[in-house]
Amino acid sequence: MDIDNILLHALAAAAHGWAVAPAIGKHPPLDRWQERGTADPEGVRALFNEVPRATGYGVLTGAKPGVDGKPLFVIDVDPRHGGDDTLAALEDSISALPDTVRVLTGGGGLHVYFEHPGGRIPGKADALGSGVDTRSDAQQVIGSGSIHPDTGRRYEFEAGYEPKSVDVAPLPEAWLTFIRATLVPAPTAAPKTAHTAYTGPSLVDRIKAALPIEVMADRITVMAWGSSRGSGLCPFHNDTSPSFVVWPGEGKWKCFGACDDSGDVIDLWRLAKAQGAI
Ligand SMILES: [Zn+2]
Repeated sequence: MDIDNILLHALAAAAHGWAVAPAIGKHPPLDRWQERGTADPEGVRALFNEVPRATGYGVLTGAKPGVDGKPLFVIDVDPRHGGDDTLAALEDSISALPDTVRVLTGGGGLHVYFEHPGGRIPGKADALGSGVDTRSDAQQVIGSGSIHPDTGRRYEFEAGYEPKSVDVAPLPEAWLTFIRATLVPAPTAAPKTAHTAYTGPSLVDRIKAALPIEVMADRITVMAWGSSRGSGLCPFHNDTSPSFVVWPGEGKWKCFGACDDSGDVIDLWRLAKAQGAI
């Protein structure tokens, strides 16, 4: 392994103000790397001297990254677990993510960098839905230039989203609200027990609330709305009489024509996406 090359990539990341620490594969081998990671070039060299077998480096995330790093929050998308579909649905129901630094992992995934908004935001697997993790306090993401342990390919900045092209963006307000609601349950007045399960609305319920089925229907066909239902030409088959019906109160839709298909707003979104209707 070309340790000098890895060190150069780590120093370049540190020059952006990000605290870094050596990694072997995806693993940080040093004790207390969460506190010792640094953006200082001499500090980075000293850490790498302790890990001659480093194959990469971690960029520290969270409100207090290492000695002197800029606080980062990263959305980690894994397409092998449906993360690209989940991210597209989230962007559709919340808002498109702004341009910011992005790293393509050597394993097919994507890391989207944001300024950490402060306060406690946990990093968690599948935090925002299937295949979309968050990386935050006392965690790391493997940085651009590191070698992926499974594929041998390098992590690299996505073209057009390198730090020379874009700044790390603040997390948009709507996303922050959604993430806080999802990951930081509000304290309840219920008496404290040893283990209190979160009983708020599920992620799916929140997406449904953010994307009303009548809004979705209006986007994909011309609807005529009555008091309890609406109908229009089905956008999914060659329809001549309006056989696509939506019940906003129930959050349901059905095609009574050739499709003979039905479901809720998420099913409708998936089908519209698959058929190129949105
Ligand atoms: Zn149809």
